[in-house]
Amino acid sequence: MASRSVDAQHHVIQGLGLRFEGFGIMVAIELRRWLDRLLPAVCVVCGDPLAEGEGRACEVCWARAPVQRYPRCSRCGIALADVGTPALGSACTDCQDWLPYLREARSPCAMSGTAAAIVHALKYGGWRQLAEEMAERMAAIRFSPGVEAEISGVVAVPLSAARLRERGFNQSELLARGLAQLRSWPLLQNRLQRVRDTRRQARLSMNERAPNVAGAFAAYPTGGGVEDAHLLLVDDVLTTGHTAAECVRALCLAGARAVSVIAFARARPDLMGG
Ligand SMILES: [Zn+2]
Ligand SMILES: [Zn+2]
Repeated sequence: MASRSVDAQHHVIQGLGLRFEGFGIMVAIELRRWLDRLLPAVCVVCGDPLAEGEGRACEVCWARAPVQRYPRCSRCGIALADVGTPALGSACTDCQDWLPYLREARSPCAMSGTAAAIVHALKYGGWRQLAEEMAERMAAIRFSPGVEAEISGVVAVPLSAARLRERGFNQSELLARGLAQLRSWPLLQNRLQRVRDTRRQARLSMNERAPNVAGAFAAYPTGGGVEDAHLLLVDDVLTTGHTAAECVRALCLAGARAVSVIAFARARPDLMGG
């Protein structure tokens, strides 16, 4: 294995992912695909050569991806040790204000370490194949038996048309597609739309997040599968739940009875302020 070329590819990849925005990122992704065929495949997180049968992230990086620790909140799934407020029985108090028809949320990983690097590699590095590996971890997650029995369709959190043009793909839709296939749930496409542009939630303080996404989504029940259904909303990262809540509100206005949420990674709200 020519380690110098592996290093070279990794550095080029990292540079491309970081330096380009907008249209440039699409050019960078194409260029990287071309490099990918030319040079030995490396892990998109650590840059080590990939072994036979490994995906885009190596097994070592996956093994280091932090999982949500137990005990977890029975409703929102966050590790109870990660919430600042005391738990009431098996539930945290942070999700007490959630809409009543937002039933449960789950995430296989905590948004730190290699799990955060994997999210960034998919979202900003354009490594779409990572979505399959992420969806496998999401498919291994179980909701409470009542929710499991009811889920009848999967809906992805949509991107705005401008962001979709810029990125070229919706990472949540890739995750939703993989998850729906693995769990044999129907993928309901074009049921939810972002009706106005929002600023990136990750760049906003806690107080700015709710107004930023208020009324930003609308649902279209015309495709079927929404009326009286318990749907599963898919996102890459769940932090305060404001984006999810707005999607849930829109889906329920369109006739859904309840919505549960799954995100690849759960971020601690208290660490995301600023
Ligand atoms: Zn790795
Ligand atoms: Zn909770």
